[in-house]
Amino acid sequence: MELAAAVVTKSCNGGDYCHGDIICWFEEVAEKADVLQTETLVRILELNRGIEYLKKWFGGIEIVRRDMDGPAIESLFTSMVPLASHADLEPYILRIADGDTAPLITREPIRLLSLSSGTTEGRQKYVPFTHHSARTTLQIFKLAAAYRSRAYPTREGGRILELIYSSKEFKTKGGLKAGTATTHYYNSEEFKIKQEQTKSFTCSPEEVISNGDYKQTTYCHLLLGLYFREQVEFITSTFAYSTVQAFRSFEELWKEIYTDIKEGSLSSRITVTKTRKSVLRIVYPNPCLASKIKSICEELEGNNWYCLIPKLWPNAKYVYSIMTGSMLPYVKKLRHYAGDQLPLVSADYGSTESWIGVNMDPSFPPEKVTFAVMPTFSYFEFIPLHRKKNQNTGSNSGDDFLEDDPVPLSQVKVGQEYEIVLTTFTGLYRYRLGDVVEVAGFYKKIPKLNFICRRKLILTVNIDKNTEKDLQMVVEKGSQILMKKSSSKAELVDFTSHADVTKQPGHYVIYWEIDGEEVEEEVLGECCRVMDASFVDHGYVVSRKANSIGPLELCIVEKGTFKKILEHFIGNGAALSQFKTPRCTSNQVLLKILNVCTVKRFLSTAYA
Ligand code: AMP
Repeated sequence: MELAAAVVTKSCNGGDYCHGDIICWFEEVAEKADVLQTETLVRILELNRGIEYLKKWFGGIEIVRRDMDGPAIESLFTSMVPLASHADLEPYILRIADGDTAPLITREPIRLLSLSSGTTEGRQKYVPFTHHSARTTLQIFKLAAAYRSRAYPTREGGRILELIYSSKEFKTKGGLKAGTATTHYYNSEEFKIKQEQTKSFTCSPEEVISNGDYKQTTYCHLLLGLYFREQVEFITSTFAYSTVQAFRSFEELWKEIYTDIKEGSLSSRITVTKTRKSVLRIVYPNPCLASKIKSICEELEGNNWYCLIPKLWPNAKYVYSIMTGSMLPYVKKLRHYAGDQLPLVSADYGSTESWIGVNMDPSFPPEKVTFAVMPTFSYFEFIPLHRKKNQNTGSNSGDDFLEDDPVPLSQVKVGQEYEIVLTTFTGLYRYRLGDVVEVAGFYKKIPKLNFICRRKLILTVNIDKNTEKDLQMVVEKGSQILMKKSSSKAELVDFTSHADVTKQPGHYVIYWEIDGEEVEEEVLGECCRVMDASFVDHGYVVSRKANSIGPLELCIVEKGTFKKILEHFIGNGAALSQFKTPRCTSNQVLLKILNVCTVKRFLSTAYA
């Protein structure tokens, strides 16, 4: 089998796909990761000979030549082609979107464009999607499924409650279809192959996934998930946010779902005809199931919905989603819904641009998960990053790191932080992804990465620099106070932040949405103070002491505010499957929503 060809096509005995095959394949890949990385780069360059973007850097020189070996090509490539950001490649991608069919960044014509979720950068970006994207998605799904089935075997022929959502698709000026990468995947042959080969089917038909209105899709997923409750082997969504969002909705919707199960009907909320037809083909009056669900829900309601998942899906073996990075804050709620026994399995690491790493250790808790890099998917480079230590640079560059020259995968070091750089089969060359990772260890020759954060600094007023991860830790400390000290059952639903520099001195604003009963003002004031005092960044501490940064402001927003933010993004073409709440925003529309919905404000007394 040609390892660098990137895709496992072989199956056991030429018949059905078998988990062992793909794990064997990955073992081989891991032994030769360094060589495969070079081969992957050479293959990308061979496939894209003479394209306009590379000509710009190589002129008339042929990059892949007989008289050069792989390492020589690799060093020529990295010395001639500069690191690039999305902005550098955007003019080419926009020409493609406008219908230019010349070989600009790939030889293979690009027919689909993905939209990154845009929830971390604030702006959606076009990224090419090719057959390679769907094939690697299928491949990493199979590999991850093989590792999961070792730890948590599931029954063949079972169902998956997949809380997945397609985005609305549209045509660009040049007639290319644009939508999220997950949407393209759900529409691809590979998605069907995955279901057939793994002999496990999602509970909802395609007409539900592609409904376009996330509320209608959620309702149908939950309804059908309950119809198939005995067969459901696991529950999954791309990002943990969607699972939490779906079960929060279930708390409100369950009575309506119960009626539909009892009567074999479908709520009038579902207005899209193709969705109605497809669901009504599956449902039938089932009073026995309905009354069981009713009694379970009544009991769950009295218990704040603790253990909702195992009670409603008694045969589910685990809950599976991306739970790392900006999804960590939702793990607490997920644990609540899953109870103490049902494992939470953290899913793989990828982006619209490329898949990056697989979780080989599904039994690790989300906080400890690492990702083994997939060396045949893309060519990876790693920019070593060093945190600036207590430097009064006065810069407001939005960055907290000093960097060294990029190194290839074979030269990364355990314990070092890096920014990932990608050269992909889909036309991205030395593209800075903007994610910061740390090498946690190796599996054979493959580095296993810890996801740290998005590189872009999120909170800064002057010399202070706080990343998404710093903010997450501070909010975690504040929310512990909320849970411990409030006399009512209150929990943090979601949060974001903003560096307000409209008045001197500038200051941080943290927005919280809280669920539960009214929380005492003293408790919220304490949460605010603790958060302010918990930022350990030297620049922040010094500036707070000198009052060149003002007291932290905690704004409590009314219930449903973060849903409005979600809806704002969905209205702009994002899909629930890829949604991530922005942890810091200067987007005026979002700030307007947050400020209009603020019901209480507190100013920190730390440093007073
Ligand atoms: P998008 O392309 O908009 O879907 O977002 C991709 C980004 O989501 C990545 O660049 C990461 O920042 C984040 N991401 C994806 N997978 C993971 C993961 N397993 N853990 C943490 N963050 C992730």
